[in-house]
Amino acid sequence: MRRYDYLVVGCGMFGAVFARRAAEAGRRVRVIDKRPHIAGNCYSEQIAGVEVHRYGPHIFHTDNPRVWQFLNRFTEFNNYTHHGRVRHGNRVWSFPINLMTLAQLWGIRTPAEAERKLHEVRVPCEKPQNLQEWILSQVGEELYEIFVRGYTTKQWGRDPAELPPSIIRRIPIRQTYDDRYFADRFQGVPIGGYTHMFANMLDHDAIDVELGVDYFEHAGELEGDAERVVYTGKIDEYFGYRFGELEYRSLRFENEVLEGDFQGTAIVNYTEAAVPFTRITEHKHFEFQTSRQTVITREYPAACDRGQVPYYPIRDAANAALYERYRAEAGRSGLLLGGRLATYQYYDMHQVVAQALTLADKEFQREDLPVHPPRLAA
Ligand code: FAD
Repeated sequence: MRRYDYLVVGCGMFGAVFARRAAEAGRRVRVIDKRPHIAGNCYSEQIAGVEVHRYGPHIFHTDNPRVWQFLNRFTEFNNYTHHGRVRHGNRVWSFPINLMTLAQLWGIRTPAEAERKLHEVRVPCEKPQNLQEWILSQVGEELYEIFVRGYTTKQWGRDPAELPPSIIRRIPIRQTYDDRYFADRFQGVPIGGYTHMFANMLDHDAIDVELGVDYFEHAGELEGDAERVVYTGKIDEYFGYRFGELEYRSLRFENEVLEGDFQGTAIVNYTEAAVPFTRITEHKHFEFQTSRQTVITREYPAACDRGQVPYYPIRDAANAALYERYRAEAGRSGLLLGGRLATYQYYDMHQVVAQALTLADKEFQREDLPVHPPRLAA
């Protein structure tokens, strides 16, 4: 008899949320991750008394009450709301582009003045085919130069004219003084850190977590001991790259421990092409800490070979078509896919939580799975 109803490959947001819901539905779950820690890319750890987001700054935000209520069972969020800042040359700009940014650049003060000026500078384009055409049609050359060209080229290793507009469309352009990065109703950072939130979520008698376990090294044994597999790793890797490799961008992070306050805010984006990193995160500002020491992280975009951590899917037409072939293959094999690597899509955390809750809803309406009572703690 198989010991588990589900094997969940990957202990990131998708894997942890699904595992919790499965356990609460009376299923027995084994969660593995090849990393030595839980929480996937949301992982945070203490360095010099500061909670550091190891895989890049993570700010939780959602408009979905169900997602918010679900996570609030496992943590309390502080009320951190992100306000972006951009450094270009010696100047600091308000970001995302809003009326304050336009006031800094052009000295204008009202939405009507902003609309008049933007109307004047926009480069008309009926059907923008790429990121450059799209952003020029929204804000014109000057704002494109300061905020988009250098940053995007560094981030993606490609000219903005070779990238799809979808990459940048999620960043708002506002003609008000609202400079919140996210406009969602619920926002914050878990008090005590993301890892603590994940530990609480996974703390259930029906969940076994095994770390430092690579699925591909033990696939036979792992699959033989579970009724179904939920896979959140790279989909092309699962199928042995048989149709070819999906492309990603990677990142390199460099931490430094310093005294005092380095930049007075959590994140500053460096948008000039000549500066090799894209942003500096000063983690203590996520928790409104005024400690003597501070930890900053410089974030360098990088090419992504097989050995590197894949962060951002490069979802152009060729990669999207390749992904569809893998997805069809997964459908035929009965494999359950979830999260950003298996569905080859950039998602923010709340979207991954929603995706996992939806899969759980679907799964636990199934009649053909055995229902086990939760095991009692020893
Ligand atoms: P992951 O967290 O990547 O988890 C997948 C796990 O699977 C990994 O731990 C991996 O080790 C494991 N795995 C893969 N292959 C195997 C294998 N063969 N065997 C065993 N285990 C395996 N979202 C926000 O909402 N707000 C933000 O501010 C934000 N900032 C971000 C900043 C950066 C730099 C990045 C890259 C992302 C950011 N995100 C943010 C997005 C957020 O990180 C993702 O939405 C979320 O982490 C996705 O969870 P996941 O479970 O899909 O993937």
